[in-house]
Amino acid sequence: MIARVALPIPRAAPFDYEVPPGLPLAVGDRVRVPLGTRHLWGVVVGLVPEPTFPGPLLPVEATAGPALSPAVLGVIGEVAERSFVGIGLALGRLVPPPSRGRVREVELARGASGEATGPAEAGVLAAVAAGTTRVEDLRRLPGGGRAVSALLRKGLLQPRRLPFSFREERREIALTPHQEAAVAAICEGIGAGREYLLFGPPGSGKTEVYLRAAAEGLSRGGSALLLVPEVSLLPQLWTRAARVLGAAPEVYFGELPAGERWRTWRGALGGTVRCAVGTRSAAFLPVPDLGLIVLDEEGEPAYKQEEMAPYYHARAVAEERAAREGVGVILGAAAPAVETYFRAERGEIELLTLPERVVGAPPTVHAAPRGEDVIGPVLRDAMARHLAGGGQVLLFAHRRGYFTGAACPCGAILRCPRCEIPLVFHLSDRAFRCHACGLALANPSCPSCGDTRLRLFGVGTERAEHEARRLFPSATVARLDTDTAAERDRILEALAQGRIQILVGSQMIGKGLDFPGITLAGVVNADGLLATPDFRAGERSYQLVAGVAGRAGRGDRPGEVVVQTDQPDYYPIRCALQGDYRGFYAEELRYREALRYPPFARLVRLVASGSGAEAKAEKLAQDLARRGLEVLGPARLFPRRGVPRAQLLLRGGEDVVDALRAVVPSPPPWLKVDPDPMWLG
Ligand code: ADP
Ligand code: ZN
Repeated sequence: MIARVALPIPRAAPFDYEVPPGLPLAVGDRVRVPLGTRHLWGVVVGLVPEPTFPGPLLPVEATAGPALSPAVLGVIGEVAERSFVGIGLALGRLVPPPSRGRVREVELARGASGEATGPAEAGVLAAVAAGTTRVEDLRRLPGGGRAVSALLRKGLLQPRRLPFSFREERREIALTPHQEAAVAAICEGIGAGREYLLFGPPGSGKTEVYLRAAAEGLSRGGSALLLVPEVSLLPQLWTRAARVLGAAPEVYFGELPAGERWRTWRGALGGTVRCAVGTRSAAFLPVPDLGLIVLDEEGEPAYKQEEMAPYYHARAVAEERAAREGVGVILGAAAPAVETYFRAERGEIELLTLPERVVGAPPTVHAAPRGEDVIGPVLRDAMARHLAGGGQVLLFAHRRGYFTGAACPCGAILRCPRCEIPLVFHLSDRAFRCHACGLALANPSCPSCGDTRLRLFGVGTERAEHEARRLFPSATVARLDTDTAAERDRILEALAQGRIQILVGSQMIGKGLDFPGITLAGVVNADGLLATPDFRAGERSYQLVAGVAGRAGRGDRPGEVVVQTDQPDYYPIRCALQGDYRGFYAEELRYREALRYPPFARLVRLVASGSGAEAKAEKLAQDLARRGLEVLGPARLFPRRGVPRAQLLLRGGEDVVDALRAVVPSPPPWLKVDPDPMWLG
């Protein structure tokens, strides 16, 4: 018997190995095999009587048992093929590695009660907040042994069995007739391979609907996967899911330690894990009898893995599972992707609408000019009013950092020497940082004239936080962005308990959070995204403004939203302020049709990188055009870490990927191929 083994090597096809007699092996098992002088772990993707490799074969060395189900193996194969990478590489990146031996690390997380005493305990808590969670490592800190035991007794540390220590009050919820109808419709689709768009404004009870549907699916003996676009939304979803489903779901996302991911993955394979909440990678979990996959806020770009091959969109993964495993797919959104709404309008996806908020009234919304101040008079007055009335305030800024740009008197903008994007000044370490490569400069001077008198401009989250503290010194202000993500659970819990009055943040706070105490949501600068040269800039702006607006007034008290913008009449912003998705969609669709962008065409993004990138891209563009493909570009992109890059876009119909494959069956290593790109440039 011959095992075809996919190994984590870019673009390589599976290799043939001899199966030693008596070794039980199945497709989907993880095995160790020799390759040259190395020993690699790979996955069995086929068992065949005859080898395709003509030479002598080496034997499989070891097996670690099943790594994934045949269905998920098929889905990952499809995902790999679509983004032109070998299945071995895709498996290596998407299936968590097995934990070594029988060692099971115990990890600790910050708990809620008690008070820390003394420097040793404070040191341990600081280390936990900074991401050191293994008991073994914490005990090695000065005085750590005793401090850990004391903190465990006081409840300030707890084993990370329950991933979140988030609390909310329990209450009984009676569904509205619209919700009832949506649940009933979705329940018909459980396990039937049907797809739904659950469309409704923020607070219309979408989450409640899909949790009820998931509960029904689980009670019929199936499994369910519930996805959110952002880790910061997991604590709340997990808590609500535990309440509605009657049992806590597992949690799965890329930042979790590999050992924890493997534990959940293996539980799914073994049939003990039947429900999980997670981010995009959780769409691959090999749970048995999967009845339902939910994507909440399906229009969010974070559902697309675009940094590293294999490039995939969690929606496409869910749809592939619907085709192979008969899974029901629910796409929930207040601001769906234009492509999704287009398909729903044409009946390719079943449209279920929840027309209005279930609690409270729609918030009062104003646009205010941006002006010179970070927090202008309209926003400032609103903040003062809401704080005085006991409300909480959410303040959104696009970018992290303090000043988002620096300019020399000669007119030059300070840029990363390796990536050419503008450097952002961070107050925390008083450095100008590149958000692409992490480079930090302490005392930069103008690269063209050497001047050091730089003018700093733009508003990042640190600056918005600083201004909020200055204007409202007695309020408790916190900031949540990727720089403070280590404290995310603690910050969100403090917000839930009313211990934070003003929460400043970036993308992480712009969507999905459901905190009834927040009565005012402010956007410091809504125009930032409109400046990006991307055909989806309008859609992003709509999603962002509508998303932030949806955070206000989710309790009994009326909500208010202030959006600082210089373009209040530009349709994405105007429609977002009015909560008018259909109005936005209608205008956006006209623009997409006129310029033949998705959904009226499909795009494939090709990025050449390395020396001579532009010349290579130019040559490729000519080859493709000669074979009848429509090519846009090449366009020079900003380099990454000094590596030059150039981009081509292919435009065509559904068959554009096949047309590309006919010309370029196996792309060279310098070429990245992304079908259905979310970000261009
Ligand atoms: P969405 O997902 O559309 O933003 P949610 O499901 O989060 O909406 O509902 C918003 C809030 O209203 C939540 O706090 C939820 O618990 C509550 N809620 C949902 N449905 C009902 C209902 N039928 N009656 C009362 N409260 C509800
Ligand atoms: Zn850089």
